[in-house]
Amino acid sequence: MARIVVKFGGTSVATVERIRQAARHVKREVDAGHEVIVVVSAMAGKTNELVGWVNEASKLHDAREYDAVVASGEQVTAGLMAIVLSEMGIQSRSYAGWQVPIHTDDAHGAARIVDIDATELNGRLETGWVPVITGFQGVSPNNRITTLGRGGSDTSAVAVAAAVKADRCDIYTDVDGVYTTDPRIVPRAQRLTKISFEEMLEMASLGAKVLMIRSVELAMAHKVRLLVRSTFDDPDAEQIAPDGTPGVPGTLVCDEDEIMEKQIVSGITLARGEAKITLRGVKDKPGVAAAVFGALADKSIVVDMIVQNISEDGGTTDITFTVPDAEYDKAMSAIDGAREVVEFSKVSGSKGGAKISVVGVGMRSHAGVASSMFKALADKGINIQLITTSEIKTSVLIDDSYAELAVRALHTYYGLDTKSS
Ligand code: ADP
Ligand code: ASP
Ligand code: MG
Repeated sequence: MARIVVKFGGTSVATVERIRQAARHVKREVDAGHEVIVVVSAMAGKTNELVGWVNEASKLHDAREYDAVVASGEQVTAGLMAIVLSEMGIQSRSYAGWQVPIHTDDAHGAARIVDIDATELNGRLETGWVPVITGFQGVSPNNRITTLGRGGSDTSAVAVAAAVKADRCDIYTDVDGVYTTDPRIVPRAQRLTKISFEEMLEMASLGAKVLMIRSVELAMAHKVRLLVRSTFDDPDAEQIAPDGTPGVPGTLVCDEDEIMEKQIVSGITLARGEAKITLRGVKDKPGVAAAVFGALADKSIVVDMIVQNISEDGGTTDITFTVPDAEYDKAMSAIDGAREVVEFSKVSGSKGGAKISVVGVGMRSHAGVASSMFKALADKGINIQLITTSEIKTSVLIDDSYAELAVRALHTYYGLDTKSS
């Protein structure tokens, strides 16, 4: 007998019929003798609709009320799932975040889980019940409803799995695993059998939205093995594991030690909507970078790529960095406000860049991945505006109009295309 947390994303619970299909996966696990906790997202599109209503009500709304509204989508699906499971003869009860309780900090709209009290959940599991928990939400120290940021149900599921010491956390979604790149962009993308936490963390941070970044961080910290699999697989079909043995189909996100064949490049990611800002003629002296990025941090603007050059006269330098398009205007005004302290001659920028990244743990021991990436892009006539690297990834910023071409070209170049189709 295993203890399993299963999470269903928005498309998996988009209608009552789909909730029934999802519930059949739960039933299979219960019938096999496992203890199961279900975590659900809101119906596909629901959270966007709720966010739209909040903005329509007031652009300058209180973040506490934003959370009260947008958390409601998950409450609907949790109740419906519990009803459907009960109808199938499985004892089931729904839980909102505060009823578990899932304690978070008070950063409304982007709260972090601080602690989950597993007493109630453990009690239910031990008496054969299936708790169904609302993803995406928790409760603040002031007893207000909080939400964890978009895509946050993945994080709820992993945190619950860690709290109840689950053997596995299964993420049911609309793809049957983690692919070498977004299969919507490259139909010849291949499903990975296994991917390490570290690679998955890079992929998630770099734009592969199949798992929320924070969920992978938590899974890595608590060693929760994740299985990404499709809700649309026949729930009653024989379960075959990623390694071909009887088990469960999908992609296992696990410790690097569990992966025998380490790929040099495991995946390619694309993140759109990257704005680029350049400060020219910045005084080349200690404390300047701290002043620039301090001004941005004060406004809670997350900076991504950063490049600094020494200008020819040696006395001044240029700094270029990227921020999300949505933060561009805020970043420009923060820089303008810091003009007195920072001392620069000119600021310029543009929205709409695309960041393409090549990820793989094998890069640690193989030279030349970056240079071959640049060559593959040059062969397609694609100009690189910025480059950043880390131990297991190389990222470039390019014009958005070349984004999909670049992803496809690199996918082919690194031999990741499927042979069929
Ligand atoms: P859910 O609603 O189940 O949480 P998401 O839409 O958040 O689902 O995530 C699943 C989607 O992630 C897929 O439909 C796919 O388009 C996208 N995706 C992006 N990159 C990848 C990747 N490398 N592998 C698999 N899916 C990816
Ligand atoms: N419903 C939330 C969202 O759309 C959380 C999730 O689906 O993970 O962002
Ligand atoms: Mg998601």
